[in-house]
Amino acid sequence: MKASMMFKLAIVAGVCLSLTRLGPGQVKQNPTADLLTELIRVNTSNPPGNNRELAELLVKKFRALGVEVQIIPTPEVGKVHVVARIKGDGSKEPVLLAAHGDVVGVERDKWTVDPFAGRVKDGYIYGRGAMDFKGGIAVFAEAIMVLVKNHVPLHRYVIFLYEADEESGPYGTSWLAESHWNLMNCEFALNEGGWIIKNAKGDVQYVSISTGDKVSIPLILTANGTSTHSSMPRPDSAIFILSRAMARRADYEPPVELTPSTREFFEALAKTSEPPLSKYFEDLVSSKDPKVIQEASREISKDVLLHAIMRNTFAPVFLKAGFRGNVIPGSAEATLNLRVIPGTDLPKFIAEIREVIDDPRVDVSLPSGDNPDAARVKELVREAENLKSSSTNTDLYRALEASAHSTWPGRPVTPYLFQAGTDAIAWRSRGVPVYGIYPYPITAEDLTRMHGNDERVSIESLQQGTEMIYKTLVHVASQ
Ligand SMILES: [Zn+2]
Repeated sequence: MKASMMFKLAIVAGVCLSLTRLGPGQVKQNPTADLLTELIRVNTSNPPGNNRELAELLVKKFRALGVEVQIIPTPEVGKVHVVARIKGDGSKEPVLLAAHGDVVGVERDKWTVDPFAGRVKDGYIYGRGAMDFKGGIAVFAEAIMVLVKNHVPLHRYVIFLYEADEESGPYGTSWLAESHWNLMNCEFALNEGGWIIKNAKGDVQYVSISTGDKVSIPLILTANGTSTHSSMPRPDSAIFILSRAMARRADYEPPVELTPSTREFFEALAKTSEPPLSKYFEDLVSSKDPKVIQEASREISKDVLLHAIMRNTFAPVFLKAGFRGNVIPGSAEATLNLRVIPGTDLPKFIAEIREVIDDPRVDVSLPSGDNPDAARVKELVREAENLKSSSTNTDLYRALEASAHSTWPGRPVTPYLFQAGTDAIAWRSRGVPVYGIYPYPITAEDLTRMHGNDERVSIESLQQGTEMIYKTLVHVASQ
């Protein structure tokens, strides 16, 4: 065996030495888990989204290892981006790992633990951001720091980007890309997105890597009626008209649309699910009989996540009507949040919604006018129509696939259309492939806690995820 190969094996083994040296009962010493606990303890709820204190914590850790770090201030004092660059010999283009430091707020009274204490309970770390996405920061940063500590020789720079304003706010990666593209340009990037799903027995069922995100667009429904004294009600109340329109919308199910990645994802589910679900997945991707497909779609759609990824969706998010207790208002307005598959013909989709509502007194339109919101929506519509999913034919996708197979042997790895949106668009819209993963095995139950209450991630999952990401980096940047 060549010495260089021995060295490479030693590098891969290095992660095992440093990450899996702990037995049961010693989990608190897991470095990724320790880092996550520290991250959760700094409250970065957005709004307001101040992430500077957390940025400084990370900067200190990278600088202690001699890594070159740059803080990029935004026009808002409390918000920054951080770029840490691990040097390579430059023979290949950089690989970038992106992770946002802001988190959504909490409904404090619905949590059973302090969401900002990083409490460890029954092998889990609890706290806002445990999964989305401080867990990701901890895994990415720890894997990179092990790479530095192991002095792994690199062909390409490994860039770690800590981001502001992903959950909301104007200074996220799109802003950064406009002003500092040179800092985030790369051959390909890794971001949040797909899932490593555990079944009820606690075994990893599949690893999904997102190659595209759905696009979120607001659609306004405005019902018009006669405005008059509420003592003399008329049949053309704007509120009644809007309510009927909303009820018709609630009964309508948009048709199934399988992108190539969703098809591949369902094929993986067909192989790894128990009957009768496995048969429904099989039928959905391979049957030619519309009745069989319809039944499969109905059964699979009982899972809200699967329901969402196999079609365009629209959900009501705001209702606005009325201003006085004794006046029937002349108009009533609802906002639907559309989540559309990239490549969707949006005018056609909106025409379908109009047809479902089937009432000329209800105007169905995208926000318009000469204002920033309307301009942003125009941009989103362009993105929805033109964005392409990232190709799986790249060194980074192959590295993710190989390291997932080595960490969870025999489990399928599949591309995935992410049902929500991420800031991957800053790269994808510039033609740079981005792959998404929440780098820790989770159950479907864990998933409901994301943006919800008692968010948590298991320490064992953090350890496995760090191992997988470390191997990915060795694979893509060193071999
Ligand atoms: Zn997130």
